[in-house]
Amino acid sequence: MKLIIASNNKGKIREYKDIFEPLGFRVFSQSEENIRLEVEETGSTFEQNAILKARAIYELAHCCVVSDDSGLEVEALGGEPGLYSARYKGLETEHERRLAVLKGLEGSDNRRARFVTCICFIDETGEEHLFTGVWNGEIALREEGTNGFGYDPIFISEDGNGKTTASLPLSFKETYSHRAKAVRRLISWLQSRKDC
Ligand code: IMP
Repeated sequence: MKLIIASNNKGKIREYKDIFEPLGFRVFSQSEENIRLEVEETGSTFEQNAILKARAIYELAHCCVVSDDSGLEVEALGGEPGLYSARYKGLETEHERRLAVLKGLEGSDNRRARFVTCICFIDETGEEHLFTGVWNGEIALREEGTNGFGYDPIFISEDGNGKTTASLPLSFKETYSHRAKAVRRLISWLQSRKDC
């Protein structure tokens, strides 16, 4: 069965190919299918944005599609950066966006935060299936570490032994992260579907 990954991010495309190909899907990226589409993320939840991205491709290609949407929610910032994690406060670089979070928390005792991912899989009949993963933790006092990307240098997960995610080996995220959790749910659903 054919599957399109609704993303232009090379890392994500590789990751999803590795998941779906062993399950018998013929997997293509948007660009391999010549689909030049930048879907506006106008939803008010990660779920809605993931659906918007997957649905736009399904309407063009009428085959299985997978998409995802993620972000960091900081409790004392009212859930920000949230949906705007990739473009928080319009800042250009990841470093500037991390500093904006640290500044927003100055003087706050509550540093609780979580990463959230929602994966949307649209099946061959056009039905949507959602898989969410949450990773709880807190925001560090300063940036630390160089692994990973985005907010990893300021995120200390509940299972990170006090260390920022960027200070831990990349394999750590493969086990514990929000994305890893959502992907595991997706895989077990795909496997149960295959066994039917
Ligand atoms: P996306 O929807 O998966 O592209 O994620 C949107 C933004 O959320 C990214 O640009 C990052 O700023 C942030 N983000 C998502 N997942 C992670 C993560 O695992 N580590 C650090 N930042 C992340």
